[in-house]
Amino acid sequence: MKKIINTQPQNQLTISYWPTDICNFSCDYCFPYNLLGKYRYPKDIDKVLQGFEKLFDVYKHKRKETFKLEVSGGGEPTVWPKLGEFCKEIKNLADVEIQLVTNGSRSLRWWKKYYDCIDSVALSFHQKDVDINHYIDVADFLYDNGLEVNGVVLMDPLYWEKCVENLEYLLKNSKSWFVHTKEIIGRDYTKDQLDFLKNSFKRLADSHKLLKYLDDYNIVVKSIEMHDNTARIAKLNHYVNEGTNKWKDWKCWFPIEKIAIDTNGDIVGSCATSITNSTCNLYDNDLDIKLKNISYVTCPKLSCDCIGDTHITKEKIS
Ligand code: SF4
Ligand code: SF4
Repeated sequence: MKKIINTQPQNQLTISYWPTDICNFSCDYCFPYNLLGKYRYPKDIDKVLQGFEKLFDVYKHKRKETFKLEVSGGGEPTVWPKLGEFCKEIKNLADVEIQLVTNGSRSLRWWKKYYDCIDSVALSFHQKDVDINHYIDVADFLYDNGLEVNGVVLMDPLYWEKCVENLEYLLKNSKSWFVHTKEIIGRDYTKDQLDFLKNSFKRLADSHKLLKYLDDYNIVVKSIEMHDNTARIAKLNHYVNEGTNKWKDWKCWFPIEKIAIDTNGDIVGSCATSITNSTCNLYDNDLDIKLKNISYVTCPKLSCDCIGDTHITKEKIS
């Protein structure tokens, strides 16, 4: 392989924002530090919004016109009491599309209050703590109200039969939102289980919705892998699962395509899991210095462990 090309529009910047590291679930495969999470969430929402405003201005000078804001975390973002207000307010600052990554556990009343300032929701399904009927109610409500809904079912090989049973229940008793399955990194799977997971799409959305997604090519194809004389669609999970996620000394375009903001409000590279040392952490702590020179970097890391970062544009230095 000599290059990975991200298909996201060139005028778009993806920002991964982790407002909290605490969670109301306790999945044993979560990052260890999340289970000990202590940074609850930002209390001064005006300060948070001012920081984003400054960031948008800097990137607008770099010809970024739209911002894809992934609000996710090492914790559960909906435990932040100001999250709804934040989602409403930030849309007044720039052309911002909000993707919320959540376990969906907030009450239906909360979702009814804030759904209209969120564009898409990735609902992660964790079999240990989930209330499956509530999960379905939330997903159905969001789907009925026009949001893009992606159910992501974490398939734990230690509780495989229960996970399959839950998946079948979801597919039978809910509306036609997307359902994917996902492996848990670090767990061992049997060959049959891996075969089951090979095609992660377990249900596609209704055809009229699907056509909308197909029109937006980069939702379906996040990146393309270039070899000497061939090219193919990149399979993101595979790099990490197969251990081929090693791009040390390659050129990497993360400062231009995807940055991350951690629970302290600091830009920390492309992924906010700095505590595991799996992110680039190439920026120092001074915001002005961080943003002075937005350009590609030379990857200093032995491995690129965040799946979301594997599809950032990278090029081998020959
Ligand atoms: S729901 Fe997500 S953040 Fe919360 S404990 Fe489970 S894996 Fe961790
Ligand atoms: S570790 Fe950072 S610099 Fe290296 S390839 Fe991944 S995102 Fe790029």
